[in-house]
Amino acid sequence: MQYVRLGKTGLNVSPVSFGGIPIQRGTAEDTKAVVDKMEELGINYIDTARGYTVSEEYLGAALRGRRERFILATKSMVRDYAGMKKEVDISLEKLETEYIDLYQIHNIKTADFDKIFGDDGAYKALVEARQEGKIGHIGVTAHSIDDLKRIVKDHAHQIETIMFPYNLVEVQGEEALKEAKAKDIGTIAMKPLAGGNLENWRLALRFVALSGTCDISIPGMGDVGEVEKNASICGDLSPLTDAEWTEIHRLRSELGNQFCRRCGYCAPCTEGIDIPTNFVFANYLRKYGLADWAKDRYASLKVNASACIECGICEERCPYDLPIIEMLKKVEADFAR
Ligand code: SF4
Ligand code: SF4
Repeated sequence: MQYVRLGKTGLNVSPVSFGGIPIQRGTAEDTKAVVDKMEELGINYIDTARGYTVSEEYLGAALRGRRERFILATKSMVRDYAGMKKEVDISLEKLETEYIDLYQIHNIKTADFDKIFGDDGAYKALVEARQEGKIGHIGVTAHSIDDLKRIVKDHAHQIETIMFPYNLVEVQGEEALKEAKAKDIGTIAMKPLAGGNLENWRLALRFVALSGTCDISIPGMGDVGEVEKNASICGDLSPLTDAEWTEIHRLRSELGNQFCRRCGYCAPCTEGIDIPTNFVFANYLRKYGLADWAKDRYASLKVNASACIECGICEERCPYDLPIIEMLKKVEADFAR
């Protein structure tokens, strides 16, 4: 495994590392098997979050007796000082460790910056946690380009890493991420598979690894097979071929920018619509020639796109500013054909 330096943290991490969302779907034993395989293949960086239900707990159990062999990162959405102090302690307890390598303030938005970096803010709690030896480094995650630009411009001296969506169809963060890299901030690509919209995982992960934009990517890994596939990329960092670039251009024109990343931030819907699932079924209906299967699944939803009352709450929450109401209308129309 060829490790890369994660900016000013100085940590040496695997270029394709572990994202901890999918392990929520399995058991603690599944997580142990995933961690076993990562240890065997040299994937040494684990990212999770307070918000990923059992993810921290499962990882804590899986890391018993081998914590020091991995670099551990987690994150919290909390904005205030007292809340973040508590969050760090909860993460330490759930992860069964005395030390977390990187703690990130999750999904920061410009409107929250004064709070986060103010006297009563989450950042101050993380600085203290770092002084106390509870955490090693401080990072942030963001979803919108304006927030990314602002953090790089105004707060680069305070943070050591930035995580931002970056993949072959979402390159809008490229310039700001490169600027962050120039300031020696570690750059981490979230959603390297565009929230599951990119099926060619090899091409998607090679693109990020070879981009020079992000130091590492953290695709979600829910089973041993995914660990094996993703680790194999680290040994395949030859330049992208002409055929791969042709495919990248094709995917860019097919997907555009308005697609759901399945992040779930829009939930809960006032009417109980599972918004990302509606989009997933519509994708299958449109793209993959699985129309009958998709119609079946859509029909089995207790509440589907047609129940939208256009209250707009989900659109306020979507970090990608998707026109969800219009997109759901299209889903409904496509299934009604
Ligand atoms: S706009 Fe529609 S989909 Fe969004 S929260 Fe309201 S009812 Fe749900
Ligand atoms: S609609 Fe937006 S907030 Fe909801 S899952 Fe998709 S990308 Fe995330």
